[in-house]
Amino acid sequence: MSGRLFVVGLGPGDPQLLTGEADAALSTADALYGYGPYLDRIPPRPGQARHPSDNRKEPERAAAALRCVAEGAQVAVVSGGDPGVFAMAAAICAEIEAGPPAWRSLDITIIPGITAMLAVAARVGAPLGHDFCVLSLSDNLKPWPLIERRLDAAAGAGFVIALYNPVSRARPWQLGAAFERLRRHLPAATPVVFGRAVGRADENVTVTTLDAAGAEAADMATLVIVGSPETRIILRPGRESLVYTPRAMPEASA
Ligand code: SAH
Repeated sequence: MSGRLFVVGLGPGDPQLLTGEADAALSTADALYGYGPYLDRIPPRPGQARHPSDNRKEPERAAAALRCVAEGAQVAVVSGGDPGVFAMAAAICAEIEAGPPAWRSLDITIIPGITAMLAVAARVGAPLGHDFCVLSLSDNLKPWPLIERRLDAAAGAGFVIALYNPVSRARPWQLGAAFERLRRHLPAATPVVFGRAVGRADENVTVTTLDAAGAEAADMATLVIVGSPETRIILRPGRESLVYTPRAMPEASA
């Protein structure tokens, strides 16, 4: 049988948010490759090999999976959320671009998943209801001054901003610096959402404002959404507030 590679998005964590297409791809694979905690979310299947690796080993994992496909196996490489959002699909493409010419002929299918930003947004209302942009705050793969320029441009242009990878043990100060930067452009009352481990047992979602937002509210499993000047909070008696960004922009602010 000729090899085939599925690059599969597992969604944010809740098995109900795994798509039927992703589930079908996982069930056909001879071998699974991924970051250990993501593989742990997949129920074991007899005869299916598992190759867990560290989350900093993405190029090595991608190359190992491609070698396995080239030998004729059905392989699934998994990512949390969507595999195209700061995840394995781009790592696979990079290895194909740099790797042996034969890898360009391999059969590859990328299967989308529900990315963390969408799961967090749905918990609080509709913060992404108008134009938004997405940044990874990790400066492992790009220089910090570039991140600052992008934060300035995004906030200055009125985008809602979703921040992936806000902090890690090796990157303790970046989120605080990002909030400082955004305060230069945005009103103090701009809503900020911290969505931690959404869809998992230890989920925690909080809403605050930019003046009160502190980096200690986030960890590696947190997605942060910073509103635009139009984003607002609707208070509701006896219910959680709704955070939303109206779909229409008033003519006057254009
Ligand atoms: N491919 C993933 C993102 C990988 S980057 C996706 O599409 O969701 C890793 C970052 O994603 C984390 O630092 C965090 O910011 C975010 N993240 C992943 N899963 C999450 C979840 N269940 N809840 C909140 N944020 C999450």
